[in-house]
Amino acid sequence: MTTRVALLSREQIDRLPARAREVVEYRKSGLSLNHIQGCPLDCAYCIRHTYGLWDQRVPRALMTDAEAVEELVNHRYFQPHVTPVQVFNRATDPFLPAVRPHTFAVLEDLDGRGMTNHVLVITRHQMKAADIDRLNALKHLKVTLLFTYSGIDNKDIEPYPSHVAAESLKLMSAPDRRRYRTVLYWRPLVPGLNDTDEHLDQAYGLAGHADATVFTGLFYRDQIAEYYKANGLPEPYEDTARRKIVPETLERRVLAAFDTTTPLFRKTSCAVAYAHGLPDYNGHYGIRELCDICPLSQLDLCASAHRVPSPSQIRDASGTLPEARGLVVVDITDRAAVVSGLETEQPRYYLQHALGFQVHDVRHPHVERRHGRADIGWKEDKRDG
Ligand code: SF4
Repeated sequence: MTTRVALLSREQIDRLPARAREVVEYRKSGLSLNHIQGCPLDCAYCIRHTYGLWDQRVPRALMTDAEAVEELVNHRYFQPHVTPVQVFNRATDPFLPAVRPHTFAVLEDLDGRGMTNHVLVITRHQMKAADIDRLNALKHLKVTLLFTYSGIDNKDIEPYPSHVAAESLKLMSAPDRRRYRTVLYWRPLVPGLNDTDEHLDQAYGLAGHADATVFTGLFYRDQIAEYYKANGLPEPYEDTARRKIVPETLERRVLAAFDTTTPLFRKTSCAVAYAHGLPDYNGHYGIRELCDICPLSQLDLCASAHRVPSPSQIRDASGTLPEARGLVVVDITDRAAVVSGLETEQPRYYLQHALGFQVHDVRHPHVERRHGRADIGWKEDKRDG
């Protein structure tokens, strides 16, 4: 496999921030592969701020695609056919011209190994008609294309126009027969920026093209807030009343803008699972208040897959992870297992996907009704899901 973006030298890699050097990392919606980093699209709220990579605008590779796939499938968190995978969702766009050959190389390598895992590919870039055939040629993977669309027209916040993602969504959703699925990834919804009735109507119109739609709020961490301040961008965190009240009001308006036949979800994994006719792989069914907008057939599917694990099943599932040696099962309810003794979130996500059941950390108790709300709040809640 060839590397189409420049391959960094060992010395250059050693100079990267520690987290940027981690090319396989568990994130909420799956095990994330990020051996290409750098993006020129400049969304002001980009997660790259939090990895010390904001200034890296040209995509560069930390290793070849073949090496990266080897690292992924041999990672202790990777379970063939089970672990949901995300490709290039942290530091670049998978369909930038220089990056797309790498995206296909990774997908084709995984597919060639007979893997049936979910693979999430999140893009706001232009896709091409030839991409349809290439994706349809994959035989095993469950691929979902998620099209990031916000409708934000403030060029200081999102210089790359949202209509490109909208056109890509329409193009890729058009074929009657296709093996991959499409999701309108409607985010970030920011009160005052992209929440007029017209914005909501436009998103609803686009949702009709997608297999499913998910709406979420803004990932607004400290480094991103600093960037907003330094660049004089209108900060969403202005007054407490707005922060507390508007997201709930906005959620009600979003729900009202949709009809019951257009599938809409609060959680990414729910939209992805629904699009493939499968139960949610994150076990959100236990968090009952998330499901009140879900199609009835999907509710039945998730209900039939919902299994509350026993303490020993949880301990068995964590048995291969050295970092989970101190794991203690504190409580198990119909909603979630509550555990302690995990230093980081990554093993918790592993357990969640291994068990198809929510696993929460005792240090961060979930508050009822908050779970579904945090995603549309100003600050994405790291405890969520
Ligand atoms: S039933 Fe609940 S958990 Fe399942 S997909 Fe719907 S919202 Fe998600």
